[in-house]
Amino acid sequence: MNTDLVIIGAGAAGLFAACEAADAGLHAVLLERRHRPGQKLLMCGNNRCNLSHAGTAEELLRAYGTPVRDFLATAIRALPPSELQRWFQNRLGLRTKLLGKRIYPASEKGDDVLHAFLDHLRDRDFPVIYSAAAEAIQPMEDGFQVVTGNFTLDTRNLLLTIGGFSYPRTGSVGNGERFGKSLGIPFEPARAGLVGLELPSRNPLARIPASTDVQEVIVSAPDLPSSIGNLLVENGVLRGSAVFDLTRMAARQNRDDFRIAIDFFPQESLAQLNRRLQALLVRVGGNLRTAINAIGLPPMLAAALAEDGVETAEQLKDYRPGELRPRPLKEAIVTVGGLARSAFDPETMQCRLLPGLYAAGEVLDIDGPTGGYNLHAAFATAHLAMAHLVSRLSHPSAGLRRRDDRQADNRPLSRKSDPRKSAWGKHFWDGKRPLR
Ligand SMILES: Cc1cc2nc3c(=O)[nH]c(=O)nc-3n(C[C@H](O)[C@H](O)[C@H](O)COP(=O)(O)OP(=O)(O)OC[C@H]3O[C@@H](n4cnc5c(N)ncnc54)[C@H](O)[C@@H]3O)c2cc1C
Repeated sequence: MNTDLVIIGAGAAGLFAACEAADAGLHAVLLERRHRPGQKLLMCGNNRCNLSHAGTAEELLRAYGTPVRDFLATAIRALPPSELQRWFQNRLGLRTKLLGKRIYPASEKGDDVLHAFLDHLRDRDFPVIYSAAAEAIQPMEDGFQVVTGNFTLDTRNLLLTIGGFSYPRTGSVGNGERFGKSLGIPFEPARAGLVGLELPSRNPLARIPASTDVQEVIVSAPDLPSSIGNLLVENGVLRGSAVFDLTRMAARQNRDDFRIAIDFFPQESLAQLNRRLQALLVRVGGNLRTAINAIGLPPMLAAALAEDGVETAEQLKDYRPGELRPRPLKEAIVTVGGLARSAFDPETMQCRLLPGLYAAGEVLDIDGPTGGYNLHAAFATAHLAMAHLVSRLSHPSAGLRRRDDRQADNRPLSRKSDPRKSAWGKHFWDGKRPLR
């Protein structure tokens, strides 16, 4: 075996795991299919990177909801938000801050998170190989062989952190399905979670030219939990956390009918809103459009609602935009579906069918609502997988040894046995370079 651990995918989960592996002194390597890492991480939270969500482990678990909650319980309890903040501060020197209950890097720059990960790896000479897409994984007697376009690696252990299907240009192209099939690991079909809903073209809201934001609405649909949050109307699509969170729950129930109702004034009762509307009507001489315009919605939205026939407080608290279509999976913020949870031990993130193979992050069938829950799940599952790997390291029967131990008994780690020779031990290597 060349190495103790190959981590495939340098996104949130893979970078976190690589830092843990580097700190534990594992003889490991991180492979990334793109020519640079963490592209989705950089997009997170509008480039501000909403890392997590403040609260206790139990509060977080409630927010993930069934069926994900039970699977994530050990991982989240082992790394609750306060511990994650400490991890970033103590391990990477990255300060965090709260905006409401959302946890961000203190600078509010996703760039700083990515650089903190990469600096940590570089300082520890941890090898990261870019432009190195794993194309096949073959189980072997005492580990796995990972095949890329330019080289193969033999490893005792493998951690899959290759993400889901959404935003494929970030590198997350859904390879989990192919690997699952070839390795005999069941895969739950991928669906779009946290995705926009397209308005029917005849709805006047579809013609709103610029992005229009309402701070707080409640969106509900039959047989789904209502969701509260902001609503964005842009380019004929409804987005924002209220819509996104509802679509995740719908995807979990395999639902694709989206007949929703929007309460634009959740803080007011119907009677209160009605009194306000009547008072406005008196003030504007009975002109309904002007009254709706003055009620406290962005002007373009109010005008579109009036054009759609909204005239009463009841309609403002129960607006039905018609039949909506979810935008495609590639535009989703998270993939619902992935490697089946039942195939992995929730105490360790190790595959029940293939000991030595672990998975973390969005490649698994796990997802959370908006607000930092998905990155938190990626970090927490990576943390749990690495904790198990590192603890196996301390048991000789596990066959894992620290990098230093291997050097001590003169077994090559290393440059002689590794086809990449001089590249080994260096970080940030280009996997396309010819092998010597
Ligand atoms: C626009 C947007 C905004 C978001 N904002 C937030 C937010 O603010 N907070 C939050 O919690 N979540 C957010 N999310 C969700 C969050 O980004 C993901 O859930 C999280 O990044 C998943 O991490 P991961 O490591 O599992 O996968 P990814 O971050 O997708 O990383 C997977 C990596 O694996 C690599 N890879 C794939 N296949 C291979 C292969 N065969 N060989 C080698 N490498 C491979 C990919 O190139 C990629 O680098 C957002 C998502 C999007 C799209």
